[in-house]
Amino acid sequence: MAEPKCPECNVEGIEHIVSKDSQERAKDQHAWFQVAYCDNCGHIYGVFAKHTIGSGKAGPQLVLNR
Ligand SMILES: [Zn+2]
Repeated sequence: MAEPKCPECNVEGIEHIVSKDSQERAKDQHAWFQVAYCDNCGHIYGVFAKHTIGSGKAGPQLVLNR
């Protein structure tokens, strides 16, 4: 079975994909978004909104391409 692979450093395995809460915090102390990144080289796979701000529509998903 194929393992997830980092495009930057070529490390393989889901265990190298880690996520961290943002430093930015809402008034309720919950982080606004999470960053998924490679724990080997720091390459960012994507930024995921943790919960919707404002309206009830689906939360935004930002994908960073570097
Ligand atoms: Zn990497």
